[in-house]
This record gives sequence, C-alpha cells and structure tokens, in this order.
Amino acid sequence: MDFLKPRSHRMTRRRRIYEGKAKVLYEGPEPGTLIQYFKDDATAFNAKKHEVIEGKGVLNNRISEYVFQRLNDIGVPTHFIRRINMREQLIREVEIIPLEVVVRNVAAGSLSTRLGLEEGTQLPRSIIEFYYKNDQLNDPMVSEEHITAFGWAAPQEIDDIMALAIRVNDFLSGLFLGVGIRLVDFKIETGRLWEGENMRIVLADEISPDSCRLWDVKTNDKMDKDRFRKDLGGMIEAYTEVARRLGVVQDNEFARAEGPRLVK
Ligand code: UDP
Repeated sequence: MDFLKPRSHRMTRRRRIYEGKAKVLYEGPEPGTLIQYFKDDATAFNAKKHEVIEGKGVLNNRISEYVFQRLNDIGVPTHFIRRINMREQLIREVEIIPLEVVVRNVAAGSLSTRLGLEEGTQLPRSIIEFYYKNDQLNDPMVSEEHITAFGWAAPQEIDDIMALAIRVNDFLSGLFLGVGIRLVDFKIETGRLWEGENMRIVLADEISPDSCRLWDVKTNDKMDKDRFRKDLGGMIEAYTEVARRLGVVQDNEFARAEGPRLVK
C-alpha cells in the first residue's frame, strides 16, 4: 500500500547525496540532475545558532526559483531547471567550486567590522570577495593567490566567476530596487557544468533572503537573515514581504498572522 504512505516517507527513500545546513541534495530523476530540497532550518555563526523557522524553506524555494528563472531568461547560466513542489527544485548536477563569492554594494556585516565602516555606507564601487568554503575553518577569506595556488579554481575560471558575479549583481540590484528593496550584499556559489568536452561556470546553490542583505529603501528595515542573526524577530514576515513584492506569492497565499500555511 505504498500510495497510502505520506509523501515524506517516499522522499526519504531517494538517495541523499549531500546534506547542508539549510538544504538537502537528492539524486535526480535523470543522470546529471539533482533535487534540491529547502529545509526550515536557520543557522548563523557557523551553526552555533540554530532554529527551525516554519515555512522558511517554502519561501526560499519560491524566491530562489524566481531569481534563477529570471537570470536564466537573460542568459546567465545557472543550475536551475524547474521547481518541482513546495520545497524542491530540479537542478543540474555541477562540480561545486569551494568558494563563497560575496558581492557588496553597501557596507554591512563582516566588512563593516573588519574595516570599521559604518553599516549603510555606500561603497565607492561594488566589491567582490572570496571565502574558502570550509566550516571547520569558519569560511576564511582568501585571495586569488590562494585560489590558484591551491587549485580551487584556475585564473580563467576566476575571471568567469567575477564576470558572472557582476552580471548577477547588476541585474538583481535593478530587480530589487524596482520593488523598493536595496541589495546591500549577497553570496553566490558557482559550479562547473560539463557538456561533452566543454565546461562552463554556472551559478549554483540559491539566492534568497538567507544569502542576501535586503533593506527596505524607504525605512532601511532589514528583510533578510539578519533578522535571525540579530534576534530582531519577524523573519517569516520579512521573507514573505520579499516574496510578495517580487510577485512570487499572492497576497492571500500566506496567512500573515499565523505564518505560511498554504502554497500551491
Ligand atoms: N553570507 C552567506 N553565507 C555565509 C556567509 C555570508 O550567505 O556563510 C552572505 C550574507 O547573508 C551576506 C553576505 O554573504 O548577505 C556577506 O556576509 P558577511 O561577510 O558580512 O558575513 P556575516 O556578517 O553574515 O557573517
């Protein structure tokens, strides 16, 4: 009576490829594909702070789907194929480059701390930073010298990653500004996608309020994971508002007072 079993039982039987802090990757339906599952877990400070925020995964799945689809539409190569359901999307399997690529437009977070810049200071130009993806080491900041010396990426790949990061920043800055949101900074991950003999650098992972700093243009209210990091409360309400402004969820789709319930 397999069909009587709840969905989640069937899902757990799929081969799990990788489990991170906020997402799980499962084997996909065809070779070269994976399923990316968005959890409700929120972590910060290298998982020293951890909570389950009901509905976060659903919102991030929808927001990231929208952003990746819009990027695909303008010819930015990404791993995204399509959303499958509330919490899952079908993606192309890529070889993840072990770098967190951060793009900053306005001083905040670790940049403000490191260089003593007041949060909210407009930067003279967009700045790209690289961090080595390694939880045990707390994702240390690295330079192109480290990246090429240790073979994490080749010089040409670094150029491709930076060009991709700048394109994503230009497009997303405009997209968010159009709905009254300032894109302060964000983090992306990239991967190598093999097509026969050829390899391309593509955008991977997710782009959501978990990986961006998003401030309301008028009020400077934080609409991102800083609400969790700084114990400001209202995280789900803020993520829902980002989704609503992007037109990703309908006004009546999420019951505001009780948190998200129904998603088609
Ligand atoms: N970020 C992320 N994952 C990380 C570290 C940073 O998504 O592991 C994002 C973060 O949300 C922010 C940007 O990258 O939008 C820059 O983060 P920052 O270096 O200021 O670090 P934080 O203050 O978050 O420690």
